[in-house]
Amino acid sequence: MHDLSRPDGPKIVAVANQKGGVGKTTTTINLAAALVEHGLRVLVVDLDPQGNASTGLGIERSDRSQTSYELLVDDAAPEDVIHSTGFEGLSIIPATVDLSSADIELVSNEKRSFLLHDALRQTAMDAFGWDYILVDCPPSLNLLTVNAMVAAHSILVPLQSEFFALEGLSQLMLTVREVRQTANPKLRIEGIVLTMFDRRNNLSQQVEADARDNLGDLVFETKIPRNVRVSEAPSFALPVLSYDSNSQGAQAYRDLANELISKNNRTST
Ligand code: ADP
Ligand code: MG
Repeated sequence: MHDLSRPDGPKIVAVANQKGGVGKTTTTINLAAALVEHGLRVLVVDLDPQGNASTGLGIERSDRSQTSYELLVDDAAPEDVIHSTGFEGLSIIPATVDLSSADIELVSNEKRSFLLHDALRQTAMDAFGWDYILVDCPPSLNLLTVNAMVAAHSILVPLQSEFFALEGLSQLMLTVREVRQTANPKLRIEGIVLTMFDRRNNLSQQVEADARDNLGDLVFETKIPRNVRVSEAPSFALPVLSYDSNSQGAQAYRDLANELISKNNRTST
């Protein structure tokens, strides 16, 4: 078997789309769980004040005194904000609603767009040996999402298979271009993944055809099907890969992880 670990430091992927409810958090949690199945070490950073990724990975609200807010705003040490999950190799920096005021609190901070970048690259992070860091973004193109894009090597965009799905993409791409011009010239689009895909639904088929016509290779071959097991898993604080390992949703996220890993092996050499 190939050694998939990353001696050059973690690959940082921002999971972003300013639309809510398109599958960002679901993709973050389950892609992380699928990467961990390969023996990789993965850190999830919850940058959404709603804290859904934190809840979905079993971090109780009462355990969230040190969070991504403290990491960004108070310079908290990594070891204080990183929480282990019930899964070997998978940790999370959780979020609470405190994070919603960060935008305003940081307005006069000159380094406000670089806070996550700097936090993830401090030497204290090296000891953890992450292979991947997945950043779950809020449903907005605000300062938090910009922080994720400035910190990241690439962005992964979940696209819900529904009408108007492609509409928001141009706005997102404008923000990517701006971040490239000002702060992170190397930011890549890792790929666009179709979520909540229903192959019996014409609309899903149409969105897929449009996405592949317009975006070509940027669209992952893997599609995440609409699958009730995927939506049930968070209420048990489990990735669907643990909740129902043989479900279609679990298998799709494994396929997505495989595609991501093989893409990265091709581009890193
Ligand atoms: P976002 O983080 O973009 O706001 P979520 O990941 O929270 O979106 O997903 C929105 C809702 O859709 C959640 O209730 C989630 O459980 C559900 N969902 C996401 N992906 C799937 C899927 N493949 N099948 C069924 N339900 C899904
Ligand atoms: Mg979310």
